Amino acid sequence: MKIIELIERKHPIFSFEFFPPRTEEGEKRLFQTIENLKELKPAFVSVTYGAGGSTRDRTVDWVIKIKKDLHIEAMAHITCIGTSMDMLKNILDTFRDNDIENILALRGDRPREQNKAYPQCFDHANELIEFIKNNYDFCIGAAAFPEGHMESPSLEEDTYYMKVKAEAGADFFITQLFFDNRFYFDLVGRASRAGIDKPIIPGIMPITSIDQIERFTTMCGASIPEGLRKTLEALREYPEEVIEFGIKYATDQCKELLSRGVPGIHFYTLNRSSATRKILEHLLREMALYE
Ligand code: FAD
Repeated sequence: MKIIELIERKHPIFSFEFFPPRTEEGEKRLFQTIENLKELKPAFVSVTYGAGGSTRDRTVDWVIKIKKDLHIEAMAHITCIGTSMDMLKNILDTFRDNDIENILALRGDRPREQNKAYPQCFDHANELIEFIKNNYDFCIGAAAFPEGHMESPSLEEDTYYMKVKAEAGADFFITQLFFDNRFYFDLVGRASRAGIDKPIIPGIMPITSIDQIERFTTMCGASIPEGLRKTLEALREYPEEVIEFGIKYATDQCKELLSRGVPGIHFYTLNRSSATRKILEHLLREMALYE
């Protein structure tokens, strides 16, 4: 089913993001992770796509496997960078022919290796969205950035291009991770003032490792608030406590978001089930969401 219909039918919805593993061992682990999270009845799960091109086939395989074998609604990420026009048509045809209904259409980031040549079908996500809209019948998601995209010179320009993506045919947005809910609420305010009326699903990443979260935030330009940074610093030598703290922090973030009526929550799971499971179990229990 299309994600936009799932949201319209009943929200909040919960979803999980995975990346396609590189090894057989990783594949087994991911199957186990999805099995573990399946009981929590996610509305959909999504599978990332390496803009470097390395995961393309595995993304396609996993999305189809999740929908057909695990019977969970699935969404495929696709990036302009790393995908030629021929590849794009081929991938989209394969999804269409396998009853995949949801695509997250992204630009992607250039590969870090400076001189590496790479295919690219469009310059920006709005062109990819428009192409998909004009040629297929997928429900299309797009990326949104609570603190602005790293390359955006201003939040105004960031909102402008978000609107361009909505007008090109994006049905909903999922945000980049953030650790201060004010960034999300400000984004929703900016979008609404700009006339963007599509659901904006907050993306939440539970902190399970300090090094990892520092790496991710540096890569994507999200900030770690000062108070959170100090607490993490104090826990640096205690990895187990970091996990417990990360679960509590994300749970509190989600509680506030849900109490203010978000359309859903998208969890960046990093292919692990334990933290996301604890957070979602807690939310479902405490807030009695589906009563
Ligand atoms: P765009 O919308 O093209 O924006 C990129 C920059 O260009 C922004 O600064 C924007 O303001 C500006 N811009 C936009 N349109 C135009 C235009 N027409 N003309 C001029 N400037 C413009 N990356 C992956 O490689 N694989 C993944 O699977 C993946 N999954 C993601 C999932 C989510 C939920 C999110 C939030 C991000 C994900 N990313 C993924 C990261 C994403 O590819 C990067 O953040 C990328 O830098 C921006 O992608 P975009 O689709 O927002 O690009």
